[in-house]
Amino acid sequence: MEILEEVKTRVYKFGNKNADGNSSMRNLLGGKGANLAEMSAIGIPVPPGFTITTEVCTEYNELGEVAIVEMIKPEVEAAIANIENLMGASFGDKENPLLISVRSGARVSMPGMMDTVLNLGINDEVVLGLANKTNNEQFAWDSYRRFIQMYGGVVLGMKPASKEDIDPFEEIMEHLKHKRGIQLDTEFTVQDLKDLVYDFKEAVKKRTGHDFPTNPWDQLWGAVVAVFNSWNGDRAVYYRTMNGYPADWGTAVNVQAMVYGNMGDNSGTGVCFTRDAGTGENVFNGEYLINAQGEDVVAGVRTPQQITKLGSQRWAELAKIEEEDRLENYPSLEELMPSIFKELNGYQDILEKHYRDMQDMEFTIQDGKLWILQTRNGKRTGAAMVKIAMDLLKEGMINEKEALLMVEPNKLDELLHPIFDPSALKRAHVIAQGLPASPGAATGKIVFFADEAAKFKNSILVRIETSPEDLEGMNIAKGILTARGGMTSHAAVVARGMGKCCVSGAGALKINYKTRTLTVDGHEYHEGDWISLNGSTGNIFEGKVATMEPELSGEFAELMELTDKYGKMKVRTNADTPKDAQVARSFGAQGIGLTRTEHMFFEVDRIKAMREMILADTVKGRKQALEELLPMQRSDFEGIFEAMEGLSVTIRLLDPPLHEFVPHQLTTQKELAEDMHISLQAVKNKVAELEEFNPMLGHRGCRLGNTYPEITEMQTRAIIEAALNLKEQGIICKPEIMIPLVGTVKEFEAQEQVIRATADTVFEERNDTVEYLVGTMIEVPRAALMADLIAEKADFFSFGTNDLTQMTFGYSRDDVGKFLPIYIEKGILKVDPFEVLDQEGVGQLVKLGTERGRSTKPNLKVGICGEHGGEPSSVEFCFNTGMDYVSCSPYRVPIARLVSAQAAIKAKM
Ligand code: ADP
Ligand code: MG
Ligand code: MG
Repeated sequence: MEILEEVKTRVYKFGNKNADGNSSMRNLLGGKGANLAEMSAIGIPVPPGFTITTEVCTEYNELGEVAIVEMIKPEVEAAIANIENLMGASFGDKENPLLISVRSGARVSMPGMMDTVLNLGINDEVVLGLANKTNNEQFAWDSYRRFIQMYGGVVLGMKPASKEDIDPFEEIMEHLKHKRGIQLDTEFTVQDLKDLVYDFKEAVKKRTGHDFPTNPWDQLWGAVVAVFNSWNGDRAVYYRTMNGYPADWGTAVNVQAMVYGNMGDNSGTGVCFTRDAGTGENVFNGEYLINAQGEDVVAGVRTPQQITKLGSQRWAELAKIEEEDRLENYPSLEELMPSIFKELNGYQDILEKHYRDMQDMEFTIQDGKLWILQTRNGKRTGAAMVKIAMDLLKEGMINEKEALLMVEPNKLDELLHPIFDPSALKRAHVIAQGLPASPGAATGKIVFFADEAAKFKNSILVRIETSPEDLEGMNIAKGILTARGGMTSHAAVVARGMGKCCVSGAGALKINYKTRTLTVDGHEYHEGDWISLNGSTGNIFEGKVATMEPELSGEFAELMELTDKYGKMKVRTNADTPKDAQVARSFGAQGIGLTRTEHMFFEVDRIKAMREMILADTVKGRKQALEELLPMQRSDFEGIFEAMEGLSVTIRLLDPPLHEFVPHQLTTQKELAEDMHISLQAVKNKVAELEEFNPMLGHRGCRLGNTYPEITEMQTRAIIEAALNLKEQGIICKPEIMIPLVGTVKEFEAQEQVIRATADTVFEERNDTVEYLVGTMIEVPRAALMADLIAEKADFFSFGTNDLTQMTFGYSRDDVGKFLPIYIEKGILKVDPFEVLDQEGVGQLVKLGTERGRSTKPNLKVGICGEHGGEPSSVEFCFNTGMDYVSCSPYRVPIARLVSAQAAIKAKM
């Protein structure tokens, strides 16, 4: 052990077509470091340097600065000597100085989340040597002022004092620019730059109480430690938590010889992509700036120019710039430096073929010589992701399995909903942030009440929270915004099901139903005011942000076709209406895994009959009301069966507590009393009587059917009659009747008996039959434990993981909003278990239930119908558990299909 410890390498060198590491070592060297090594090894010109491993970052967090510096000092000194050798310059030397950059780089790319320092190793004497050696005073002093600025910010904490303040160094520069009447950094004279260096150092002294460090080695260690610290900086921690990256990954530190894009008109810097990251189009593209360094291109101080002529012309057209003006003032790199362009174009081709994926690269031109500073698999939109994967497949660069694995399932979401016009988004003003509950882009006028959703042509329903009564209004509104509730709140679940944009739990919103106002940050919005929602980010915008219809491009269809070739597990949908069923089918759903029958009762013309049924005191009264509901329910089923012709349709019997159906407002209570010829008091009494302490654990699910068997009878009749009616028309339907919330075998048996008896009666009446199944949801933990006995009776299981999660954790789904965000912030829970299936805990019940069920009925059909059925990691889990299908909302069907294929491919790897 001890010996191993001693030989452990903590510093990996690269440069001059050599490297200690390679691209497979991203965990140890970080993505940036691993790719710098790889590029160097394959002969791409990268400035020489070295990488301090991510393990050292973790060691640093344990042992602290002093111990770490001591531990790696010999290796770092040797590696610096290696750079000095290759560059023919010396670190800290007054005549022939070597300057370096110190760059962060975790194993995954975290753009802008951590820190980098350029031009390190400069001081009052070195700057003179640099000016001398390059015969370029302007460049030397520009590098110096940049260094103080970056080192000051990253290492010495010279950040804006508050969020209203600007960067302290920017402030000094702005002041000088104003005084000199100039606009750009490039317009500073040598004297200006000298003054800036002086003023910067003064500012540092004043703020930190210390002189700016002059010793290059002190500067180096300061920067290395700062990069390690940036792994635990606020920005990085937030980004890590958001993406679920563990704290012990750490960041590597890359130290590299500087190459200078700020040496004058024969120098420059830029970024480029081997394909279009927005659309996926196979065109080399990017931006550059002459006489610039580092982040200048992205910082937006000067307008960057396009790399290719084609890109430049496209850009000019959009910017309404005449060709002459373009050529004169904004020429492409291709036109301005043709031989550099040719070389760069060659490298992008090599690198894309080498990595077999779209690359995002950084480069710098130093006095006519091209250097590559970074390459990585480029981030891209969902549309680009699909197109690039399919194009690479067609170009023969990757195979079918690789193409499928290249697409991130969640990214497909973007292809399925209307999207904001990116240029409009740039100008939009964000007023608050909520949870990205249901993706999409919505723009409309504020309404505060569901029954007023139709008041405007485009409305956004703004509620503290929504309830089942709001369903119709939610359907009409273009988007839904709630102040309370999490990712599985009523609003969120229903919206996702509808494929409707929804932002939930925006705590900063103060909603006043009385005055019909929405207040955020002291700003008041009224009914009828325009707002816009981005359901993919949770952003809430003021006013109208332009949207556009998504294009389901040809590649998307091709990708989906490919999923069928590899996917073993089927994908069904949760659909309560024929329209949902049709949408899902067009997305490739292979059946319905859950039709909730209660939603059908909320529609205006039905709720009355439903309420009469609930309020009836006698079985006879109830049966009478149910008679009224029967034809409506039957026609609903006919519509759904027809849409799903030939495929299985699982229908769940009535599930929610009856209290949800009765009127809670005085006016509606009065109406009902009049309609039923009973007293208002009688209505009120019934409503009060139905109130429960824990409705989620109360009189619901099969407990309803077992206490009021006539409900089960009516629903069964509706299902079977609908199926027979369609059969007469030659339409094949495969109903599967599902009993909810079963916990004991007897509960199941009693319901099954009612169902079978009713079906037999109908068969006799009609003198015809259809095949149907009777199964159950497994959503009470006891049902999972008793699965072997239940399976002896049930034809199928469908895991209702929403309730199963609720009951296994003991978290009320409707109240988690109060503590879940805090739990996640504190790391008590990693993710919302209602969103991502808790494989460790709840997953045990799913596995066990499946195993026990199949121990008595080996070919038991098993599926899942909770919200988890459309969440990628949960879908993969379902595949590994051996499920026959997952069922999810229509708009998640393509995602689940992709995951199903990916899981099958991974299982064979
Ligand atoms: P990030 O990870 O945020 O992209 P980088 O470490 O890549 O940060 O560096 C920030 C900028 O500085 C990039 O534009 C990069 O190309 C540039 N840069 C980094 N090291 C050098 C160097 N040795 N010479 C010239 N430019 C460099
Ligand atoms: Mg970079
Ligand atoms: Mg349930």
